[in-house]
Amino acid sequence: MIEADIAVVGGGIAALTAAAEAARRGRRVQVFTGALPGGLLLSIEAVQGLPEHPDGIAGYDLCPMAQEAAMDAGAACIADEAGAVQRDGGRWLVRGADAALSAVNAINAVSARALILAPGSRLRALGVPGEERLAGKGVSHCASCDAPLLRGKTVAVVGGGDAACQEALTLAAHAARVHLLLRGEALRARPAWQQRVQAQPRIDLQPRTEVAEVLGDAAVGGLRLRDGRTLAVDAVFIYIGLQPATEWLAGAPATVALDSDGRIADDAAQGLFAAGTARRGNDGQAATAIDEAVAAARAADEFLA
Ligand SMILES: Cc1cc2nc3c(=O)[nH]c(=O)nc-3n(C[C@H](O)[C@H](O)[C@H](O)COP(=O)(O)OP(=O)(O)OC[C@H]3O[C@@H](n4cnc5c(N)ncnc54)[C@H](O)[C@@H]3O)c2cc1C
Repeated sequence: MIEADIAVVGGGIAALTAAAEAARRGRRVQVFTGALPGGLLLSIEAVQGLPEHPDGIAGYDLCPMAQEAAMDAGAACIADEAGAVQRDGGRWLVRGADAALSAVNAINAVSARALILAPGSRLRALGVPGEERLAGKGVSHCASCDAPLLRGKTVAVVGGGDAACQEALTLAAHAARVHLLLRGEALRARPAWQQRVQAQPRIDLQPRTEVAEVLGDAAVGGLRLRDGRTLAVDAVFIYIGLQPATEWLAGAPATVALDSDGRIADDAAQGLFAAGTARRGNDGQAATAIDEAVAAARAADEFLA
């Protein structure tokens, strides 16, 4: 076990920004990043809402840069997920999830006076037959990864928010036809996304359309819809919201309070701070995650002082 001033949990933009800011304030910082840092931004090309670099900056470049900045500032990264958190004599004890990785890293736990939790979120699944079986065989959550392989094909995007619109537009640059399937009556995305979707002739908006099953043997061949229709598609991309990655904290309700959606609330009196999409009240934007991360590092620093 090693001691730190601040333990940080997460490998996305929120955790890495918080770690960099806390280390720049002279704090000893240990970050459980998980085995593959980067988070949701890893699969996003153009990140809307962040200040634009003259040459543009891809989401998948942003987290490696943030990790480098955190390490340059003196934060130490542990390539394991945090598996448990507990209070231990006025300190926070964070244990690694994977015994084999703990052995490789030669660290199985971090004891720290303050804790910043930023484990982010996973994309919600539809929960219909065929979805899990055909994952990676046409069922995807990464348009920018798969779009170039779908030139001239027909695909479906499920969802009506910003992420669904953004990814439908990415796919429309390659695919022949993109069916954008909405459960409700209208898109929920911000007006700028709605206008771009409506102006793209290859996107076909289908309101009041729910997927009942993903069809196909070796690969996706179509979708069975709840109204009984079948839609022939070569791939389906699912963006129906985020699920906070906080199940591993549910066993410690006395130490870390989660709301009914599984999001984390700060407990400043105990030196517990949250940032990013797993924090209560976060709006899902990367700029907000960065803002919350800097605020969390500052609050943890003040708590220690
Ligand atoms: C398709 C799509 C398009 C988007 N486009 C935009 C956009 O254009 N502009 C914008 O501002 N935002 C966009 N977003 C949202 C953006 O991705 C998020 O705001 C941002 O990634 C949140 O960062 P985070 O650090 O909170 O979480 P995440 O990115 O989810 O990162 C969390 C990290 O923590 C790790 N982790 C989880 N549990 C543990 C644990 N127990 N221990 C250690 N590590 C753990 C995860 O593996 C992951 O690496 C988009 C999202 C999607 C899905």
